[in-house]
Amino acid sequence: MTATARTLRRVPRPRTWSVRASDVVALVLGNGLLIGAMWLRHGQAVELHSVSGILIAAGQLTALYGTYLVLLQLVLMSRSPWLDQVFGTDRVADLHRWVGFTGIMLLVAHGTFTTVGYGLAYGNGVTGELVTALATYPYVLMATAGMALFIAVGISSVRLARRRLSYETWYGIHLYAYLAIALAFMHQLAVGTDFISDPVARLYWIALYVIAGTLMLVFRFGQPVRLSLRHRLRVANVVEEAPGVVSIYVTGRDLDQLATRAGQWFRWRFLTADDWWRSHPFSLSAAPNGRFLRLTVKDIGDHTRTLQRLRIGTRVFAEGPYGNLTGARRTRPRVLMIAGGIGITPLRALLEELPAARGDLTLLYRAHREEDLVFRNELEQLSTLRGATVHYLVGGRGTPTLPGDPLAPGTLRRLVPDVAQRDVYICGPLSMMESVRRNLRALRVPASQIHFERFAF
Ligand SMILES: Cc1cc2nc3c(=O)[nH]c(=O)nc-3n(C[C@H](O)[C@H](O)[C@H](O)COP(=O)(O)OP(=O)(O)OC[C@H]3O[C@@H](n4cnc5c(N)ncnc54)[C@H](O)[C@@H]3O)c2cc1C
Repeated sequence: MTATARTLRRVPRPRTWSVRASDVVALVLGNGLLIGAMWLRHGQAVELHSVSGILIAAGQLTALYGTYLVLLQLVLMSRSPWLDQVFGTDRVADLHRWVGFTGIMLLVAHGTFTTVGYGLAYGNGVTGELVTALATYPYVLMATAGMALFIAVGISSVRLARRRLSYETWYGIHLYAYLAIALAFMHQLAVGTDFISDPVARLYWIALYVIAGTLMLVFRFGQPVRLSLRHRLRVANVVEEAPGVVSIYVTGRDLDQLATRAGQWFRWRFLTADDWWRSHPFSLSAAPNGRFLRLTVKDIGDHTRTLQRLRIGTRVFAEGPYGNLTGARRTRPRVLMIAGGIGITPLRALLEELPAARGDLTLLYRAHREEDLVFRNELEQLSTLRGATVHYLVGGRGTPTLPGDPLAPGTLRRLVPDVAQRDVYICGPLSMMESVRRNLRALRVPASQIHFERFAF
């Protein structure tokens, strides 16, 4: 089985959501204001005349906004396609990181302000107040356990710790955040000053939880289960492309009804005895054609090594499609694609799918060694078929064949003189993408014409 433009058949496009970034920002800020108004309406501001009153008020506000951010985290992690479309997976992942840290800091501040504030107000001292609160209110004890879990999740995400942990360990620790959310929930309704005696505020607060939970259920669980039941995906073939790189062909029922486009990626879970429990992101390396989906995997770690020996017939559970590195972002008729290493996968699919006149598509493909170039034959076929230009930039940087930066502004201008009039799609190692984006800016390519996908969250 090969994948060329000859086999291309139209499949439906993923739904376009009529949501704009400004709508999302307005909704988030609007709710933020509503929460502040709710706090004021309950008369909490009148207590600000004493130190204990100020601390208790600070404890209440940090609790409300800390919890609000935790709920926003659930929305950000719901893998909702409208969020992906509006912000892109990269930006959602970045937001998740900063909203997460801020939320945890606010919740720690809530615990501290509240304990010190009530300790002062009742003359118990900090330790006395802590012991009283934990011994008197079981829900506060549960929330304190939840806070400890949140702190563990936060510490595991600090860059230094993250680098030392395997992805699986880090992800496993992250799952405790759900337990933490559940543990903290009841204490808000049981002892939260804003909720004890205001049924409307309680209803509003519960509604926020229900909305966040529903998005999680629908998009993280419902949608992938539906996709898998509908299409019953299986591995149809595994083909070696280069040393340590294989293409996995996945077939299934009604694939011509699976809405996706070139440049997108799925989280793939291969249901083998050892690996069914983990899913990994891989881009489509061939344009969707209604007959098979193809992903191409480079061996860089334990999971990608196992995939090199995947058995034909293995059941596949796929979540997606995700990602914005698609024709939907296109603003110009002419396109430049810049691939580094295995970053060729989504660009290979785009080269096949993007509508273009002959001469409109150019691919620059950077690799360290000739043998690292994957899809060479397919790229040759596609370039003939589509009238595209492909340049291979092979060699170690600083060697006689490639003395300088092979993607320096001068080289880019020489290879693609009209670069500033093109959309540029980039995928490759992070450092390469950063330097290419800098070089493109130096060549006055507007940011709106530069589209990229990171192969790491
Ligand atoms: C949007 C996207 C598209 C990708 N497309 C491709 C592709 O087409 N071809 C390809 O070869 N690689 C692709 N990757 C990279 C691929 O997902 C990782 O190489 C693979 O998950 C590494 O797993 P491992 O256990 O073998 O390696 P490890 O050594 O365990 O991990 C190496 C690094 O990969 C990342 N990673 C590991 N597991 C996961 C996971 N479950 N989810 C997210 N990131 C993880 C982490 O940053 C980790 O530090 C893509 C990544 C992303 C984010």
